[in-house]
Amino acid sequence: MKYYSLNKKAPMVSFKEAVIKGIAPDRGLYFPEEIHPLPASFFDSLETLSNQEIAFRAIQQFVGDAIPEKVLSDILEDVLDFDFPVVPITDNIATLELFHGPTMAFKDVGARFMARCLGYFSNEKSAEITVLVATSGDTGGAVANGFLGVPGVKVVILYPSGKVSDIQEKQLTTLGKNITALEVDGTFDDCQEMVKSAFLDEKLTQKMQLTSANSINVARWLPQMFYFLFAYKHAKSLSKEIVFSVPSGNFGNICAGIMAQKLGMPCKHFIASTNVNDIVPNFMATGSYIPKASIATISNAMDVGDPSNFIRIRHLYKDNFEELSNNLSSYSFTDEETKEAMLALYNDFNYVADPHGAVGYLGLKKYLEQHPEYYGIFLETAHPVKFLEVVEDTIQENIEMPDSIAKLLNKKKKSILISNYQEVKDFLCE
Ligand SMILES: *Cc1c(COP(=O)(O)O)cnc(C)c1O
Repeated sequence: MKYYSLNKKAPMVSFKEAVIKGIAPDRGLYFPEEIHPLPASFFDSLETLSNQEIAFRAIQQFVGDAIPEKVLSDILEDVLDFDFPVVPITDNIATLELFHGPTMAFKDVGARFMARCLGYFSNEKSAEITVLVATSGDTGGAVANGFLGVPGVKVVILYPSGKVSDIQEKQLTTLGKNITALEVDGTFDDCQEMVKSAFLDEKLTQKMQLTSANSINVARWLPQMFYFLFAYKHAKSLSKEIVFSVPSGNFGNICAGIMAQKLGMPCKHFIASTNVNDIVPNFMATGSYIPKASIATISNAMDVGDPSNFIRIRHLYKDNFEELSNNLSSYSFTDEETKEAMLALYNDFNYVADPHGAVGYLGLKKYLEQHPEYYGIFLETAHPVKFLEVVEDTIQENIEMPDSIAKLLNKKKKSILISNYQEVKDFLCE
């Protein structure tokens, strides 16, 4: 399988090169040259297949011969060793819980898959690859955990000092081995700026193979198809057609869901639910795409003012607005509405949702008002304990701390303080 750049000014590359490069030299996102639907018999017999078998069938064409089938299958065994439960909320609403992985956010799936692919490619080349990533919270933990102990790969994570939650900081700073945390005296934007400077620094990139692990990398994006298929396997015995509501920030997750639909997964509609960062809801209402500076909210992993993966969704519909509208609706919600939804989910259905999942629930409810005939599944993208303060304040109840988190909070933080780009560079050159 070959990948082209959506900016169309860079050569086509293999899966391997797309993963190692992350982004094309013309700054475009990579996109697979072809998408071959899977046969109807695959979807008819889905319940007879394991999660690993489903994932293998879904991703194999996109990996092609870059990874031998046996190795790919071992990678998937490893990546998917936790549960993806679909929990019913009402007669026609359920939630797909994506927080049962090691860092309790859905990003574990993509980060682990990318880590293992890169580990394989690096072994093959026996040269070391350095993954450099800036995080505002969740990405860093998932990437650190995914890459821990992967031979031939070093990971350097930049995070803003004092601006991530305790749990998130411990997830970044307590692993050791091939993972180093750089604690930046500044904001998330400063961290991102330093990462950008490193990628543009020729002295540095000549010395070392640098790559990024953010959601535009095809190896983080595509494996997110898997759990839509797992949810379909679970829901297909119901006699209703399915719609998915995805709490969205950079729109990588929902774009992967639409890819699963392109593979032939029966599914009626997608709902992109956002917080007040409403660039896509506005686009779906007016047809104009107008990026804005991001606004801070309680669902902070979705505070994105120019969603990087939305261009892949538009491309999937050849930029045909009408066709896109037939398959995608998008709604935005305030923090107030999100808290009310968290409280209602708790009081009425005894379900504790995190703020991101609650936004997904709100979008789904809004869509189902007009389309009550469908069965709706919203994605619960993080464990509520990761947003402890706002969840406990909202539902006025203490939530139980999972053992793994309690243990983590006792571990000792290790980080290197950084105040400017030169210090990052000195560290990388050491
Ligand atoms: C990253 C993240 C999102 C947004 O996912 P996108 O793929 O960027 O749309 C939603 N919820 C949580 C908890 C996240 O960490």
